Parts: sequence; structure tokens; C-alpha cells
Amino acid sequence: MAARIIDGKQIAADIREELKSEVSALKEKGIVPGLGVILVGEDPASKSYVSAKEKACGDIGIFSDDNRLPAETTQEELLELVGKMNRDPKINGILVQLPLPKHIDESAVLLAIDPDKDVDGFHPMNVGKMMVGEKAFLPCTPHGVVQLLKRSGVETSGAHVVVIGRSNIVGKPVANMLLQKKEGANATVTLCHTGTKNLAHFTKQADIIIAASGWPNTVTADMVKEGAVVIDVGVNRIEDTTRERGFRLVGDVDFEGIKEKASLITPVPGGVGPMTITMLLFNTVESAKRANGID
Ligand code: NAP
Repeated sequence: MAARIIDGKQIAADIREELKSEVSALKEKGIVPGLGVILVGEDPASKSYVSAKEKACGDIGIFSDDNRLPAETTQEELLELVGKMNRDPKINGILVQLPLPKHIDESAVLLAIDPDKDVDGFHPMNVGKMMVGEKAFLPCTPHGVVQLLKRSGVETSGAHVVVIGRSNIVGKPVANMLLQKKEGANATVTLCHTGTKNLAHFTKQADIIIAASGWPNTVTADMVKEGAVVIDVGVNRIEDTTRERGFRLVGDVDFEGIKEKASLITPVPGGVGPMTITMLLFNTVESAKRANGID
């Protein structure tokens, strides 16, 4: 069987169009969703992520308050800026780009963000609410995965989902979201990690595999059941001398081998990646609605 490719770019574009209409409807009510963006230092990857986020905001009509701070910024200065954004009614979401320089305690900064403006969904208050199934800002990449499944018509209820990876930003939250007793979830979830003995034993039983290990070829075709759905969260650089930049991006699964066996699969790039920023925009619009009593 040749798999249908899940077009993350198209699904992300569809959601952004929906958000753009919502933002213009909000503007008619005098509400302009605002995202406060903070980047500390000169890390090239972080700079390009932040630029992409700012551009995406502009494209759908979200106001972005961009703050690029020098690497020597102190924790106190950063906390002061977060506090100012917490109090600013024009700011509905606060994004502190990670990683932060070593002298700054990341968790202290994330804890300082008002949970009602925590559009990354990393504040323990939102993590806890998500865990118990209450309304919360959901972290962007796992929420993007859930949306990809939903919008590709994949039935998760009763399905066996095997998640590979237990990070706080991908593995644990995606597993948690999919086991909730809710529409678009209600799956039987197995969460695998480096302590898992015989990963293939679990992946072979999976109706849906979500790979977030951070290593190419963690899942190969022999580890996948015929007709399974494979969502590849991974983004890895591998050397490629045929490319001018000397590398190419691959995911955590062997795409070429698995696409002959799976029923649906996400490519890298162009699968989960475009969904992450899109769900950040979604959370920012949600936050603006909540702040104005619109639900
Ligand atoms: P991470 O913090 O490095 O966590 C990786 C997890 O995978 C860990 O829990 C690790 O287990 C587990 N793992 C590693 N190798 C494994 C193996 N062979 N078998 C089973 N489990 C294994 O990574 P992350 O931040 O979650 O990111 C995962 C991948 O997603 C990376 O490639 C990253 O670049 C990508 N990513 C993409 C997006 C996007 O927007 N597309 C966003 C975030 C992350 P232990 O806990 O036992 O160490």
C-alpha cells in the first residue's frame, strides 16, 4: 500500500485562513489580538523561529510586540519585561523564545508568565489543566499533531497510539491529549522512551505512531503495521553534500521505507512543522477572545 501524504502545509494554511477571518471579525468589535515576543541573545535558529512567528502574526492580523534583547540581559530585566507584558491589556499572549542564555533560569521565567497569557502552554497551571481535561492553552506542537489527525479524518477513538518520546514539549503532552475522554482523542496510548525494552514490539501493534525521539530512523518499515498512520514530529539535520547548505532535514522515521506500508504519513519538512506556529496563532486568538468574554 502506498501511503497518502498528510500535507501539513495545506492544513496549516487552512487553519490560518480560518484564524484570519476570526481576527477580522474581532477587529470589527475593536479587538486586536496581540502577541508579546521576547528573544534573548543571537542564536541563529531562535532568530529565524522568532522572525517566522512575527511574520505569521502579521499575515493574519495579530499585532506583535517584538523585543530583541542582548545576550547579557539579566534574569531580573527579563522578569520585569514579562511582568510588564502580563499587565498590558494589548498583549494576549507572551512568547519567550527558548533556549534562554545559561545564566537565566528558564523555569523561573516560564512560571512568571500569566497563565492566561501562556500561549505556549508550558506553564504548570496549563499543563495541569490539560492533564485533568479542563480548558487550557495546549502546547503548540502536540496540539498541531492532534489537529493533523483530526483534519486528515483519522479516527483516534479506540485506536492504539504509540508515542515515542516523553519530553515535556512533545511526547508527554501529545500522549495526554490523546487519552482524554473527548472527541478527537479517546485513544489507548502507549508511551515509549529509551527505557522501553523492544520498541518494535509496541510500534508493530500501533494503529497510529507518533515519533518524537530526535533521532533519524528511530522507526523503520519493519517496525510498522500495514496500514498504520505515522506522524513524524522529528526534525534532524543530516549531512548532504549535494545541497548547497551541506545538509538536509529528515524526521525520526524512515519515510521512504514506511510510506510503502503506512496508510497515511507526514513528510519532513512539510508535516508537523508548519502546524506549530499555526497553533501559537490559534492560542493567541483564543486568549484575545477569552480576555474579552467571547468563548
Ligand atoms: P527530546 O527532549 O530530546 O526528547 C526525546 C525523547 O525521545 C526522550 O524522551 C527520549 O527518551 C526519547 N527517545 C530518544 N531515542 C529513543 C529511542 N531510540 N527509542 C525510544 N525513545 C527514544 O526531544 P523533543 O524536544 O521532544 O523533540 C523530539 C523531536 O521533535 C526532535 O527531532 C525535535 O527536533 C522535534 N521537534 C519538532 C517540532 C516541530 O515543530 N516540528 C517541535 C518540537 C520538537 P528518554 O526520555 O528516555 O531520554
